[in-house]
Amino acid sequence: MSKYIFVTGGVVSSVGKGIAVASIGTILKSRGLSVTVQKLDPYLNVDPGTMSPYQHGEVFVTKDGAETDLDLGNYERFIDVSLTQDSNITSGQIYLAVIGRERRGDFLGGTIQVVPHVTNEIKDRFKRLAEKSKADVILIEVGGTVGDIEGLPFLEAIRQMRKDAGRDNVLYIHVTLLPYLNSTKELKTKPTQHSVNELRRIGIQPDVIICRSDYPIPDNLRDKISLFCDVDREAVIPLTTVSSVYEVPLVLEETGLGKLIAEKLNLPGKETDLSEWREMVSRLKDSQEPVNIALVGKYVELSDSYYSVREALQHAALFHNRHLNLFWVHSEQLEKMDDVDPLLRTAQGIIVPGGFGVRGIEGMIKAARYARENKIPYLGLCLGMQVMVIEFARYAFSSDKPNSTEFDPVTPYPVIDIMTEQKAISSKGGTMRLGNYPCRLVEGTNAAKAYGCNPIEERHRHRFEFNNQFRQVLEEKGLVLSGLSPDTRLVECAEVKDHPWMVACQFHPEFGSRPNRPHPLFRDFIGAAKDVLREGAQRALPLTS
Ligand code: GLN
Repeated sequence: MSKYIFVTGGVVSSVGKGIAVASIGTILKSRGLSVTVQKLDPYLNVDPGTMSPYQHGEVFVTKDGAETDLDLGNYERFIDVSLTQDSNITSGQIYLAVIGRERRGDFLGGTIQVVPHVTNEIKDRFKRLAEKSKADVILIEVGGTVGDIEGLPFLEAIRQMRKDAGRDNVLYIHVTLLPYLNSTKELKTKPTQHSVNELRRIGIQPDVIICRSDYPIPDNLRDKISLFCDVDREAVIPLTTVSSVYEVPLVLEETGLGKLIAEKLNLPGKETDLSEWREMVSRLKDSQEPVNIALVGKYVELSDSYYSVREALQHAALFHNRHLNLFWVHSEQLEKMDDVDPLLRTAQGIIVPGGFGVRGIEGMIKAARYARENKIPYLGLCLGMQVMVIEFARYAFSSDKPNSTEFDPVTPYPVIDIMTEQKAISSKGGTMRLGNYPCRLVEGTNAAKAYGCNPIEERHRHRFEFNNQFRQVLEEKGLVLSGLSPDTRLVECAEVKDHPWMVACQFHPEFGSRPNRPHPLFRDFIGAAKDVLREGAQRALPLTS
């Protein structure tokens, strides 16, 4: 039978709950336990797929094609698991299911209420995941902050679980923040006390409190929190800010959290063994020599929009013992410049990630041109491949007209066009080509060299594709179609022939990268970039942030 750990957050949002959950997963897995994770998002959207990256950050795509919260990416990277649509639940999904059943007549005669109908639907999702995964531990993160109106049904459901699953099988962890007051030079516990009170008001007494803080937490504050919040002294876990999120499992384990959870839940398994993880973190800290990578996108003001891309670059840099010096370049800024060299001069590699809509596209095309002409390694992801193809076509046809019909519906050279299957679709939610699809790589290409296996499977999220009418002519001009769907109908990877490393893919390799196992395309991209000599590369500073 699975044990449940429910993690709530208090005081402020963005307190690092997702990383704490992922890190607990790392610790428990290293104790020989099987772990799976679920994220509960209180908003009414059915999934974040329709939300702007400015609202929500990255949309993380699971293998089975669910568009989910970016925390799932952290869970996958930290616990080294592949999650599915069962791992992300939103209030929108829950209400849709309950109301759908009401309309079918499943509750005929009954009044449909938040308790028990909505809470039962939520608990069914926990139990379904436990049954399907057969994991020793199900870690469940409640999104938002305790006290949010929309989060109440989730909190009520997790409260009921203590009775449903049995007291010994459920653990509640509360992650809070201890703010620092500059005037008195001290950390304050009162907001934590208040948020624990709020939890207790709805019937949840936390077993463990993880206290986030930017400064070391003195022992007397742990005592105070223990006393006021009625939590064992050793279960008040300090978590001070660290330079890399990958340090968090080590910091938490130092406090004895793994053993504490194992004892409280009576879990089998061995001692925590984070030796491999520790080695990875020390290499991360030791890697001094920089590799300068320019990420060109239109959502760069919010780096969470490219969360998995940034992490995948980090993993690849670590593989090469380099320090990732990532600078964010706004594509709209490039768009306005005649000469983009001042912004890209120090880049040893240029990456154009995914995106939607016409804003900033011409800036990305300029970046791709700069990479091709100056032989700077380039990695294009999804939109980044479409941009590379458009730029190449403009060069090949000596025209500025080639485009995607997403950006110019009447272009005479629609080198990227809407997929046939997508033409009749008007509804926006969950309707893109999503999730894992196979791809066959062409031997001898940079893509095939990177993967070293064939065929591959990667995660997708797009509506547009390479227009096959232009295959032959662009190939003749030096574009290599290095990966095709097994039926050869879709171009999945492309690269530029007379270039050291200009590779792009229609899929999203960033989701599959792990700290100890960089994705092959990212690994070879950084491998190609790291020795490129650029003027001022060694002393580059972030140009925009
Ligand atoms: N907008 C492009 C499409 O829909 C690219 C999507 C993406 O980068 N995820 O095909």
